[in-house]
Amino acid sequence: MVDIAKIASFCKRRGIVFPSSEIYGGLAGFYDYGPIGIEMINNIKAEWWKEIVHKNQNIVGINGAIITHPKVWEASGHTEEFIDFVVECEKCKSKFRADHLLEDAGIKVGELDASKLNELIKKNKIVCPKCKGKLGEVKEFNLMFKTKVGPGEGETTYLRPETAQLIYLNFKNIVETSRQKVPFGIAQIGKAFRNEISPRNFLFRMREFEQMEMQFFVRKEDADKFFEEWKEKRLEWYSKIGINKKNLRIREHEKGELAHYAKRAVDIEYKFDFGWKEIEGIHNRGDWDLSRHEQFSGKDLKFFDEETKSKFIPWIIETSAGLDRIFLAILVDAYHEEEVKGEKRVVLKISPKIAAYKVAVFPLVNKDGLPEKAREVFKLVSGCYPTFYDEKGSIGRRYRRMDEIGTPFCVTIDHQTLEDNTVTVRDRDTMEQKRVKIDDLLSELYKSLNLYS
Ligand code: ATP
Repeated sequence: MVDIAKIASFCKRRGIVFPSSEIYGGLAGFYDYGPIGIEMINNIKAEWWKEIVHKNQNIVGINGAIITHPKVWEASGHTEEFIDFVVECEKCKSKFRADHLLEDAGIKVGELDASKLNELIKKNKIVCPKCKGKLGEVKEFNLMFKTKVGPGEGETTYLRPETAQLIYLNFKNIVETSRQKVPFGIAQIGKAFRNEISPRNFLFRMREFEQMEMQFFVRKEDADKFFEEWKEKRLEWYSKIGINKKNLRIREHEKGELAHYAKRAVDIEYKFDFGWKEIEGIHNRGDWDLSRHEQFSGKDLKFFDEETKSKFIPWIIETSAGLDRIFLAILVDAYHEEEVKGEKRVVLKISPKIAAYKVAVFPLVNKDGLPEKAREVFKLVSGCYPTFYDEKGSIGRRYRRMDEIGTPFCVTIDHQTLEDNTVTVRDRDTMEQKRVKIDDLLSELYKSLNLYS
């Protein structure tokens, strides 16, 4: 399994992801997606949206604000509960997450308070992993980023630490305007911000990241059924976007591990080189969220059932996926190094659905009328698929460059093309080439890319 540091430097070299504010030394936990990365990210979002919103008549989307009324976070419990435990080295002043230090030492922690974590650190004689110095007292640390709204002192509020709350806030708007009836869902993709104590493992733990969340509103008695249903559907989706099943698993949360709002929770985990780690959480949140917002806002958030003429607060089944973690899992899963004719070949065997470019078009050589013909073919193909065009350098090197970013097919225009209007189509994974008539090229690509399954 490829290690994460190697993937990070590969991403930088190939214009996939860059450390943010790099010319100023970078800012821990923040990354920028480059020209290849942003295409892939957009493709993952589009696949998720298609699966969740477009294929389901009873799920609709929203795009909520990043900054909200501060009371939202009181109601959600984040102001009080969204804390991690930080411990500082007395010698080098580095800060660590107390539970991570214990877990790295093989000690299972679960939900413990600061004083219990402190005892465990002392009892197990855990020292600073950087300089072996003595660790100070464990302290609580709220992960929300504070900001001020309005001129002067302004009003203090927070950047949203999750997208879910915006969905609950719009529950009533959606019921009133979209004719949806329980059971139904609301989906959203957007940025979330958490001031993580120790961002690490490249895109895995960031301070600014993106979530793809869907909240499904159900009757209490149907909650278990829908929980199971969404658990299966979500796991299946990862195979549809090309992640190897053997690197995925579902892990049920133990009682002590459950978040304050959760009745039941499972994680979909991916097997990274640093262990099995969560990429998506599926939660039965009970009626916690809407009840709390009803209580804090004083507004009636009950659903009125026309058939039974009864009013109730729906229960919520949540599927909460991290876009950047999924992107990372896709890269790790697809990264291959192989030897071809004595030379190393790096190839990203990603699903064509996720690949930045579906096709590349090359003239074999940059003369003899081939570039002109190749540009005609590029015009034809790029009208249907994101297509890369390159006429410079050796053809072998141009193929390798496309292999590295996972372009599934390379179409080459050679001297024979000028005689019989055929091109070669090279398959990224097998490296086999076949001749195809230009008239048949689009239908051949349509079949081979299989983008719409
Ligand atoms: P963790 O325990 O790893 O901190 P979490 O249980 O707090 O994660 P959730 O609150 O359930 O995570 O968030 C839903 C999803 O958002 C996660 O499954 C993950 O994919 C993503 N996510 C959460 N925190 C981060 C982060 N700091 N960086 C990148 N993605 C994140």
